[in-house]
Amino acid sequence: MLKENVSIATEKAIMEAEIHLPDDFMRALKNTILKETNPVAKAEYENILENLRQADRLSVPICQDTGLHIFFVTLPPKIPLTSDIYEGIYEGLRRANESVPLRPNAVDPITRKNSGDNTGVNVPAIHIRPGEKFTITAIPKGGGSENMSRLCMLLPSEVSKIKSFIVETMLVAGGRPCPPVVLGVGIGSTFDGVTALAKEALLEPVDIMDEYEQDICDAVNELGIGPMGLGGDFTCIAVKVKRGHCHTASLPVAVNVQCWVNRRATVEIDMEGLF
Ligand code: SF4
Repeated sequence: MLKENVSIATEKAIMEAEIHLPDDFMRALKNTILKETNPVAKAEYENILENLRQADRLSVPICQDTGLHIFFVTLPPKIPLTSDIYEGIYEGLRRANESVPLRPNAVDPITRKNSGDNTGVNVPAIHIRPGEKFTITAIPKGGGSENMSRLCMLLPSEVSKIKSFIVETMLVAGGRPCPPVVLGVGIGSTFDGVTALAKEALLEPVDIMDEYEQDICDAVNELGIGPMGLGGDFTCIAVKVKRGHCHTASLPVAVNVQCWVNRRATVEIDMEGLF
């Protein structure tokens, strides 16, 4: 029963994430469009909005790249962490291949042989955390934006370089990650932990930023890359930062670049097994 519930919730979360963008992102996107002054950028936003309308009307994925699949699971104390959780997620993803449908994106890194069903060695990525509710969050991640993500091990004395590393990441990326982007930033932790922080930052609501995040976002927007790299006032919708304590000799910084197709959807399973 647990495995079946997880499978159904996983399929639902993928389907919602692929077809509709989250409300907080839509609010932030519409706010950005209202403030844009560049006519080419304004026209590009019309294309983006039409893309979203068509995906909703036809119940099809927003983008042809339906992503590589990442899941965040929260488990309340009453739900045991067993192999059913993992197997349910794999099964739900395999079902979604047909029902959404998904493009098969998972390949062996060396032979490039495609597994054909978006599963494989160590994919999907599954992160499990304790929580008050039993939830499954799907974040299908497009290759174009993931490829532009970067990690840097700064010196502890280089705190002032954090902002320039983030801005430089978008300067190098240009239009390739399909802006306007959301930047998930990890600061601190370890070499492996900082990339997890950057990914988790993408789970945060993007229609609010603190002062530190807003300052970095404004600096990125001064690049003028604009939607799809065609120029404009806004290259970045939001910067979200997650911090972790780090070694006294280290200052890891990771930037996970997320394209405008900022997919994320959460399904909750209650104690009666309802979704
Ligand atoms: S980067 Fe995003 S919008 Fe661009 S092709 Fe990939 S998934 Fe689609």
